[in-house]
Amino acid sequence: MAKRLVKTDLCFLGILLLVLITGCIFFYAHNHKDGAVAVVTVAGEYYGTYPLEKDCRIEIKTNEIVTNILEIHDGKADMTDANCPDYLCVHQRAISKANETIVCLPNQVVVEIKGADTAEFDSMT
Ligand SMILES: [Zn+2]
Repeated sequence: MAKRLVKTDLCFLGILLLVLITGCIFFYAHNHKDGAVAVVTVAGEYYGTYPLEKDCRIEIKTNEIVTNILEIHDGKADMTDANCPDYLCVHQRAISKANETIVCLPNQVVVEIKGADTAEFDSMT
């Protein structure tokens, strides 16, 4: 009886492991194919995630006041407007590669690209 239980447990564990590994591989491959997202944080707090493949216009608000306008078009994230005094974020070029960021220091807004292929190859050539 005891032996039987162990055998069943091991079998169950094996299947579980297999399912987990298959799931991981599928998830990774799927995620990789899906491309990049723009992750927005305000004052160090998570604000939202927006896929680059879908054009949209995001109003980033702090205390009900729109501080920055982030536009996603042609697979790129671009800060098109802001109420900050330096306008540095608006002047930054549109980003689309993993780990690229647009930072608005006065408004503490950070836009970071995640999940895409890195720009390593491009910068090497
Ligand atoms: Zn700014």
